[in-house]
Amino acid sequence: MTTTYKVHGGLAFEPARFDAIETLPLPDHICIQIDRDATPAVTEGDCVLKGQTLSQCEPDQVAQHASISGVVTDISDSVITIRSDGLDQSFITPHANRSYPQRINNLCHQYGLVGLGGAAFPVHKKLDAIKHLTPDTLLINAAECDPAIYCDEALIQDRARDIVKGIEIALSASGAQQCIVGIEENKTESIAQLLEHLPAEIKLVVVPAIYPSGAENTLFALCTGKTGGVRKNNSLCFNVATCYAIYKAVTLAEPLVSRVVTVVTERAVRNFELRIGTPLTHLCKHLSLPLNSAITCGGQMMGRMITSDHYIEKRTNSLIFHKHTTKKSVACIRCGACADVCPERLLPQQLFWHTKPYNRTALLNLNLSHCIECACCDAVCPSHIPLTDFFIHAKEAIQIENTEHQKAELAKDRYEARLARLKNQSKRERKKLDNKTASLSNSQNKDQLKKDLIAKALQRSKNKKLTPPHHNTGDDQS
Ligand code: SF4
Ligand code: SF4
Repeated sequence: MTTTYKVHGGLAFEPARFDAIETLPLPDHICIQIDRDATPAVTEGDCVLKGQTLSQCEPDQVAQHASISGVVTDISDSVITIRSDGLDQSFITPHANRSYPQRINNLCHQYGLVGLGGAAFPVHKKLDAIKHLTPDTLLINAAECDPAIYCDEALIQDRARDIVKGIEIALSASGAQQCIVGIEENKTESIAQLLEHLPAEIKLVVVPAIYPSGAENTLFALCTGKTGGVRKNNSLCFNVATCYAIYKAVTLAEPLVSRVVTVVTERAVRNFELRIGTPLTHLCKHLSLPLNSAITCGGQMMGRMITSDHYIEKRTNSLIFHKHTTKKSVACIRCGACADVCPERLLPQQLFWHTKPYNRTALLNLNLSHCIECACCDAVCPSHIPLTDFFIHAKEAIQIENTEHQKAELAKDRYEARLARLKNQSKRERKKLDNKTASLSNSQNKDQLKKDLIAKALQRSKNKKLTPPHHNTGDDQS
């Protein structure tokens, strides 16, 4: 039986229900990537439990945890491999955390939470950035606009109550003045679920189902009517799945060891709760998919081609298994179709022109940094040019250059500070030396004076001795 829900201005939707979120049998091993600069907290041969920390948790790093129990068999290239013991024993001890509002940042950091919408930005850094501010709006992104990603929708339909608890925790941690949940109009069952659980002070805004309405700044503009994006409007944005992870971390003390992933095959669209680090070969095996499948990771629009050698990461939201047929790209015919569809009003063909050869200045002038990597331009390009790939590589090159530049600037500052320190030091030493010399010469002068006085006294006494004694003749008595 279907129910029709009326929301926002009397719009009527028929709920569309997803199948329940599925799980897979235990993989025989998992591979967890830790931060490149992080120090592993385990060594080869260690026995670990599910939920156990695998890397030291520095302030700017994302903590990683074991998603199965077993033995650490390899640590190389920042990847920790754990062979399952088949027992799935947990390190996690759920507890009711009553003092959470003050500790949310720390817990998000400790439990390795990142944005689960695809960007994987650390949650604790996002909260840290607004620590001393009162944000205007906390935007919750439930839009999920990519046509091949359904993991958030499935999660809302399955766990709306817990997601809403996570939203309330995020609202309390951020101190935002208002909270808006933005969702596309075609997600009817999810809208119904959210409306059932959201408290009155959290607003649900239904936006048109037009790609890329789920892009953070686009959704912000659609929900608030404000231009300039989230940051410029003193606001912040979390994805619904991130809110669910916040709920689990803060109230159940559960680190981020699994996530929901949409798996699209030629036969079906299914949503699985997969352990972080699950090899894609394990997924292929259980779904009877060939190991040499061409796989798009990250959605139909923004996804990137990968092979089954990869494993599930915190950012993995969707996997499309298909027989990939790459269309050969040919030269740009300057049709302008890419510029017509760009939601950021960029000039993709010109940006492309300046990626080969790479022209940093031109790319910056053409606002490459505003590109949201939505791949709308790729979709319409009649020459099948993978424009977004070029933009991503160019942005990475700029980022590397910026980092190098910052490092060089830092080194220059430190060098100059050292020179100044040495100069001051030598000045101080010079002055000290001068003072010493002056005092030495003073004391030498004093010594000389003393010596002169003594010499004079000695001379006087000598002179006295040489003067004949005065004899009394009695003449004075007359
Ligand atoms: S990927 Fe293409 S369409 Fe999308 S923002 Fe970037 S340039 Fe514009
Ligand atoms: S859509 Fe493709 S062919 Fe047309 S201008 Fe853009 S890059 Fe060139």
